[in-house]
Amino acid sequence: MSGQDAWPRGPSRRWSPSPLLYASAAVHVGAAAALLARPHAWPWALSAVVANHAGLAAAGLWPRSQLLGPNWIRLPAHDGESGAVAITIDDGPDPDVTPQVLSQLAERRARATFFCVGERVECHADLTREIVSRGHDIENHSQRHRHNFSLLGPGGMSTEISRAQDSILRATGSRPRFFRAPAGLRNPFLDPVLARLQLRLASWTRRGFDTVDANADAVYRRLANPLQDGDILLLHDGNAARGRGGKPVILEVLPRLLDAVASKQLRPVTLRSAL
Ligand SMILES: [Zn+2]
Repeated sequence: MSGQDAWPRGPSRRWSPSPLLYASAAVHVGAAAALLARPHAWPWALSAVVANHAGLAAAGLWPRSQLLGPNWIRLPAHDGESGAVAITIDDGPDPDVTPQVLSQLAERRARATFFCVGERVECHADLTREIVSRGHDIENHSQRHRHNFSLLGPGGMSTEISRAQDSILRATGSRPRFFRAPAGLRNPFLDPVLARLQLRLASWTRRGFDTVDANADAVYRRLANPLQDGDILLLHDGNAARGRGGKPVILEVLPRLLDAVASKQLRPVTLRSAL
């Protein structure tokens, strides 16, 4: 659980730069000072700044990184409690797939967290409300799921995220508490935006790659080998790859995964319930 101990559990959080951002600021100040003192050393100063930006970009392209700010990659450890896993389902709601996912979850009395896309929530508001009425939580996966999300500036990120907050609030009457970036990709502008909107970033422990791989056995193995206390697992009801007979791969994997969770005496919980 390293990196999560400092995570605020209360209702509000204030932004503070991560150690990597402090180090980046120091590199810029140092490069400027070196330029003033020895102008002919400009290639070295420029190289340091370029290398620093390459490092920041790399941290943003690594979804499970905690270098740009707090990021749930596992459920936090609560004193004396254990035995929980979180199944998270992204990119919906989807009018074909999501109702079948809800039935599979209900059959096994399991709760899940749905990271929904604001535009899709607006198109399928009744289905969004049904997700909530069945006991699941809906969280923010941006308004449009833009593929260039990680290239947006603070204004663009704020628009994408706050519009999805509004779409989900209008549909369900409840405001999300977590955000997941499209494809998990981000940049240093994200964390201050999330802090202002009182959102926590969540990625995952393992993902099935079920938007690109229609082989249910392979997707299942990626998620469940090994299945451990505190895992956050990622599947997709939106953009699901299609396996045999055009069946969305999540529908082949989810029952097996829930059976594995039960056989290990683990409880499927929502992220919000682990706050
Ligand atoms: Zn997504």
